[in-house]
Formats: sequence, structure tokens, C-alpha cells
Amino acid sequence: MIAVLLNCITVEHSPWAVLFAVLFCLAGSWVTLHLIGRVRATERRQRLGWIFLAGIAAGSTAWCTHFIALLGFRPAEPVSFHPLPTIIALLIAVVGIQGALLISTRRLLGFAPSVGGVIAGLSILAMHMVGMWAYRVEGMVGWRPGLIALAGLIAIVLGSAVFRVTVRENVRACWPIAVMVVLTLSLYFTVAAAFEVTPLPMAVVGPRQDAFHAMVVAVGAVGIVIISTGLASVVIDHHARSDSFERLHHMAMHDALTGLPNRNSFKDHLDQQIAKARQTGAQFAVIGIDLDRFKEINDQRGHQYGDEALRILSRRMIELAGADEYVARLGGDEFVAIRPFTERTELVEFLSRLKGAFYSPLRMDDFEITTGASLGVALYPQDGLTREALVSNSDLAMYRAKSDPLRAICFYDSSMDDVVRQQRVLANELRLAIENQALEVHYQVQRSISGGQITGFEALARWNHPTRGFISPTEFIPLAEEAGLIHRLGEFVLRRACLDAMSWTAPYKVAVNLSATQLSEPAFADLVREVLAETGLPSHRLELELTESSLMKDGERSVRAMQRVKELGVGIALDDFGTGYSSLATLRTFPIDKIKLDRTFIADVESCQESIAIVRAVLALGKSLRIPVLAEGIERHNQLAILRAEGCDEAQGFLFGYPTPLKALKAAGRSLLGKTPGRRNGPRPAKPMTGTVLVAERSRQLAETLAVDVPEPALARRIAA
Ligand code: C2E
Ligand code: CA
Ligand code: CA
Repeated sequence: MIAVLLNCITVEHSPWAVLFAVLFCLAGSWVTLHLIGRVRATERRQRLGWIFLAGIAAGSTAWCTHFIALLGFRPAEPVSFHPLPTIIALLIAVVGIQGALLISTRRLLGFAPSVGGVIAGLSILAMHMVGMWAYRVEGMVGWRPGLIALAGLIAIVLGSAVFRVTVRENVRACWPIAVMVVLTLSLYFTVAAAFEVTPLPMAVVGPRQDAFHAMVVAVGAVGIVIISTGLASVVIDHHARSDSFERLHHMAMHDALTGLPNRNSFKDHLDQQIAKARQTGAQFAVIGIDLDRFKEINDQRGHQYGDEALRILSRRMIELAGADEYVARLGGDEFVAIRPFTERTELVEFLSRLKGAFYSPLRMDDFEITTGASLGVALYPQDGLTREALVSNSDLAMYRAKSDPLRAICFYDSSMDDVVRQQRVLANELRLAIENQALEVHYQVQRSISGGQITGFEALARWNHPTRGFISPTEFIPLAEEAGLIHRLGEFVLRRACLDAMSWTAPYKVAVNLSATQLSEPAFADLVREVLAETGLPSHRLELELTESSLMKDGERSVRAMQRVKELGVGIALDDFGTGYSSLATLRTFPIDKIKLDRTFIADVESCQESIAIVRAVLALGKSLRIPVLAEGIERHNQLAILRAEGCDEAQGFLFGYPTPLKALKAAGRSLLGKTPGRRNGPRPAKPMTGTVLVAERSRQLAETLAVDVPEPALARRIAA
């Protein structure tokens, strides 16, 4: 059997044809392997496309190899070619290998590649056998069964071997190509050797030259077309992939709005700088940058102007940055720069260039603004050796610069850590206070100006710190927001205020302050519903106070959240009205039930023409939109008189009462409604009181409006003390 095989290869075939077949098979296998690589790397429809192409490449490589070798077959007998089996042979190889690839890429089946490999091997074997059938010899044809069995074995073993390694794993070695070549050629020669021809006694003519020529041209053409198509698709795909890889890489490393490097890129760059500085002992600075008036642009002019401002500033930064200087945008209005230096003066010069970029005016359409920025600098190695330390310390320095109106640039120093540590301790204590329900809620009365009667109470959170005493909400509310505690704090105040309001004998409204982040919490309306249901407070007695800036934070979401809250029957008051930027627009956009005119306008309403003009304008606005206006911060009778004359609806302020704990209110007792200073036809307003007496008196007045209990004047005096 071996002798027959060797004879077939060395004697019956022209060595040139064999060499050419080997070369062709090598090239085709290389293309096939690459196409299988694409099959491996893609999914679904794309994968089907690559399977289709890989099947064509592999099948036609085997087919061309067969016919190239066959053209060098020099049997003693005259031959001719039959076209139909030639084509059928090609189809068997192509379709068989496509099917094999389809099966072998089934991820869930571990043995699928082996099964596919066996099918591919047997398809190539079938192709060779049908291909031999195309070769019409003038003689008796038969097959040597031993060699056919050997061919079957080769097909199964090598086919499954090559599929197992190529279909699932990314093999970069050459040996799978070698196995493919050995598989194709060994199958060919075994089949050719198994092909037995017994010459007929009356031979006709020698091989037909025209059939040979046609065959040579056909095989050559098909071969070239297939190999170059495969090659082209691999090359095009490679380019397309490296193009899109580059694009994706650029996208992943750059900010879409400004084109500056982004946070990912900054991290990489900083890590590289640290590694370099470790080796060379160099110094560099990390500079955190935060715009000062960005929010103002967004609020006043809308987001497109905000975006444009960021683009202009980014262009300036790109232009000013020299070869070694790196700038990036971390998001929002936060930027960062990195600058290596040997002399401190180099760094100072860079910082002043940076500062210049942020402090020269921005011109957009008819609008000009200078944003300004706060810059915080941390130095390697003295301020930190790791990325985290450098970033956090430049942030600390930046916050310091932000809080100091006289400084735009601030260098990190270790005392800043102490401030942060203290803040952290305080935040932790606040967390505990919320958990232990140690926060208190005080109530400040709101009255109708024309009738003098109470309309409601504003709930104001109080924190009585065990060692520091009362801490102002203007201090702990921002701390709660920063430390992520505001939702729990807000929920506590809401629940407590509703519960307390239920204990009042008269059905006054209770107004609860909300932070911006509370409204953007998706389940906020559900929380309100739940608290109302739990406490039993009718929804019309609850009013939520929101500031303009908190509404502007996420306009659309805020409108939706407010609508859901309003559907419950809860009222919305616009707090600190007039301090925002686009008050009129806010009133048009949001469903507001009450305007709370900010106390800064009331403070100098008696002396400042501008303030009285604003008060008038707001009252007119309220009238035209049919939204009642409450004036905050009324401390003096004169202020009240002016507001009454201007037709303001409601008032709140120390003149009517200080924020007072519920217990004190209840303890103070009986209603003094008839004696309120706002009553038009009632008794004349009492003379303003001062100090302790005032506190005690106001608390008592308030308490009596709320509670049924018999008054206990001593208690009220004690609160004041
Ligand atoms: P706000 O909502 O404007 O509350 C009114 C503030 O003005 C209160 O300060 C109140 O004590 C003070 N005030 C009342 N009448 C007068 C007056 O005649 N003259 C002057 N000068 N001030 C007066 P407070 O209680 O220190 O609260 C400050 C801010 O803290 C509140 O301003 C509110 O924005 C926030 N806040 C208070 N409690 C809460 C809360 O539970 N949740 C949230 N998110 N914020 C709260
Ligand atoms: Ca308020
Ligand atoms: Ca207010």
C-alpha cells in the first residue's frame, strides 16, 4: 500500500505540479486560517458572513490543489475531463466546510469543533473522490479499499485536530497551516493512489490537449480569484478594524464635547508621569481646575452657551499647552493639568498662563462673561507619591482656592487635611444623629397679612450637637448633601413634620424644605405618598419648599417629579424667590402654588428703592399668574406695613415668631390669634420686643395658636433662656 502511495507521488505525478500544488495550498490555507480567525472573533450575522467566506476559501483551496496536482498526473492511459463532477466536487468541499464551521462554532457544545473537523475532513475526502471521477480515463476504473480506509482515517484525525485548535482559540503559530496542507495533499495522494485504472485493450488517443488547457485555465482562474478575494477581505477587514480600533481608542480617551483628553487618559498620563519621575527623580505638578461661574452661564443662558464656554476654554488650554504640558477635562466644569518642572518659576509661569485662559472674557453672541476658575496644585513627590494622593490633594487645594475669594491658585499644604478630617468627623456625627433621630424640627409660623390668621408653619431642621451646641442648617445641610446623607435627613424631617402637624389641633399647613437631590431621586413621590399614608396627614396640608436653583439642576426630571407630587395633592412653594437667575422662566415652567419672596429684599425694603421695586414686580407677577406671594424675613412693623400696602398675601419672620420646638409651642398653650400684628381691624400691633423677652413672647404666641393645652408661661420663658 505504501509502495503504491510512494509510486503515485514520485512517479505518476510531475514534481512541478506537486510543488505548485503545495504552494497554492499553503497560500489558500493561510487565507483560510485568517478567515476562521474572523469567524472566531465575530457574532451572529457577521459570523455567518465570515463562515460563508471561510468555507469558500477552504473548499476551493482544496479543490484547486486537487486539480493542480491532478494536472501533473501522468497515467499511462489516455484521459479527458468531465465538467459536471468537477463542479460538483467544488460544491461538496465548499458546502461541507461551511457546514462544518457552522457546527463547530456552537459554543455550548464542547465537542462541536471535533465534529466539525471530521465533517470538514470527510468533505475534502469526498471532494477528492468526486474530483477523480471527473477524470475520465480510457480504461476500467476501481478503488483500492485499503487506501480509501486510510484516507478516511486521515480525514477524521487531521480534520478534527485542525478544527479543534483553529475554531475556538487564537493560534498565531504556523503549524495549523501546515496541518491543513498535509491534510489536503495527503488526502489527494491517497485517493489518487487508491484510484485504480485497468487499461482497455484498444486504447484510443493520448490526453486531450484542449481538455487539459481548459482545465489549466479554469483552475488557475478560480484559484487566483479565490485566493485574492480572500486576501482582499482579510486586508480590508484588518484596515477597517484598525481604523475603528483607533477611533474607539480615541473616543475612549477623549472628551466628545471639547476634544480634550478625558479622565481615562488623565489617569494613564499621570501613571506614566509617576513611573517616569520615579526613575529620573523629576518633579511635576498636578493642577486641579474648577470653573467659578459656569453654573451661572448654564442657568442664565442655557446649556448650549455652557457647552460653548467649555469649548472656548478648552481651545485656549490646548493652544497654551507646550510640548510637556498636559491638559484634560474630567467632566462638567472640571479640568486638570500636569506640568513637569525643575525650577519652581517654570511652574509659576505655567500657572499664570493657565489662569489667564480662564480669566479673560468669553464672548458668545451678544453675551460676554469671565468665568474665572479655582486652581489647586499638588506636587510630586512632596505632596503625594501615588495617583490617588496627588489627585485628592490637588482637589483639597482647589477647594481651598474656591472658598477664598482673594485667591485663584492654591498650593496644597498638610493643614488642609485637618479641615477635611474635621469635616469627615462631623459628617459621621451627623450620620449618627440622623440614625438616632437626634435631629430636631422647629416650626416657624406663617400668617396671612390681610387677615392676620395663621396659614401654616415652616419646618426647619435643627442639630443640637453634644459638644458644639446648635449647628446651623446652613452648615449641616450642605454637609449632608456632600456626604450623601441628605435623603435620610430629608425623609426624617418630612416624616417628623407630618407627624407633628397631625398633632396640631387646627389643620394648619406644614411646609417642608427640600434639597435639589431629593427631588431628583426617582422614588421621591412614592416616599411622600408613603409618609402621608403612614402619618394620616391630608395631602393638602403638606407644602414642599424648593429653591429655583434646585429646580434648574435637572429641569425636565424636576417637572416630572413635581407633577407626581402634585398629583398627590401636595403643594409646592418656590423658596428664596428672586435670588435665582431666571425667575420668570421658572414660574412659567414649573407648577408652583406659592412664591416665597427672599428675605434679602425685605431686609432693606424700607430704605432701598431697588428692593421695593423688586417687591412690587414680584407681587405684580404673582397677581398676573394667580400665585400667592409670601414675604420671608419680616422683622419690623414698617416692613410689614409696606408689604401690606403693596398687597402681599402672606408673611413669615421673627416679627411673628422664631422657629420653635413643638414641645415649647404646645406647652405655651392658648391661641392668641386675635392679637397678631397683621390683623387689619384688630388691636394695634404690639411694640417690637427685644432679646429674651421677644423670644419668649413670640414662642408663647405661636404655641397658643397651635395647642389645646392650658398655657404654661414659665415654660416659654425657659425656652428663651
Ligand atoms: P429657608 O428655607 O429660607 O428658611 C428660613 C430661614 O430664615 C431659617 O433659617 C429661619 O430661621 C430664618 N428666618 C426666619 N425669619 C427670619 C427673620 O425674620 N430674619 C432673619 N434674618 N432670618 C429669619 P434656618 O433655620 O437657619 O435655615 C436656613 C436654611 O436651611 C433654610 O432657609 C433652608 O434652606 C435650610 N433648611 C432648614 N431646614 C431644612 C431641611 O429640613 N431640609 C432642607 N433641605 N433644608 C433645610
Ligand atoms: Ca424654606
Ligand atoms: Ca427662604
